[in-house]
Amino acid sequence: MKKNKLRILAVGAHPDDLEFLCAGTLAKCRARGDEVVMCNVVNGSRGHLVIPSDELIKIRDKEAKRAAQIIQARHLPLGYPDCEIYVNDESVHRMVDLMREAQPDVIITHYPDDYMSDHIEASKLVSYASFHATVPHYKTSRKPLKVIPPIYYMDTLAGLGFQPEEYVDITDYIEVKRKMLAAHTSQHAWLKKHDKIDMLEYMTAMSRFRGLQCGVKYAEGFIPYRRWGRTHPKRFLP
Ligand SMILES: [Zn+2]
Repeated sequence: MKKNKLRILAVGAHPDDLEFLCAGTLAKCRARGDEVVMCNVVNGSRGHLVIPSDELIKIRDKEAKRAAQIIQARHLPLGYPDCEIYVNDESVHRMVDLMREAQPDVIITHYPDDYMSDHIEASKLVSYASFHATVPHYKTSRKPLKVIPPIYYMDTLAGLGFQPEEYVDITDYIEVKRKMLAAHTSQHAWLKKHDKIDMLEYMTAMSRFRGLQCGVKYAEGFIPYRRWGRTHPKRFLP
């Protein structure tokens, strides 16, 4: 890896969350030469009205892998069932090990006050584990991180309760983002029925709205996690 290229770890709750909320930024990171790892904490097992969970898990894993392949990102899922992710010793341990495998310079994850528990717990899990991952006496199968990685919170669903502090212009990557989201074919019908949304229209509207806020066609918004040990006098996002 070339110097000053970064390793980005993006952690979403469900298999399609990163595609909704930060895939344009991930595509732009890849274009500047960064390595990208995409992790979904839960496996999407309950995200359908008809397909049974055991079948759905396989389908959604394939969809997430297909989406990651579009930008040659690595897909590293954690595999918890939908609605069953909680911060506890076991989940923190597994997340620490995943972080040590990914060795991120920067982490992107959910805002800690997003719309449902899987998103909220995934966010907490990331902030807890990202500190523990640097502690040598916190043992897992891999070597500790050398520095505490900065965290960027991606948008909430429909941007509710979220005022971005940094924007990424994704105008040149909106089609890639659409392709990545469209890879989650099982979700079209589910999101229409359960959440009354057309997923591509929803994502495009959100990206356009964030674009309007910063004077470009399409954008994604982020809030840096400003806590001691995480703040830096430089910009990491593209
Ligand atoms: Zn989700």
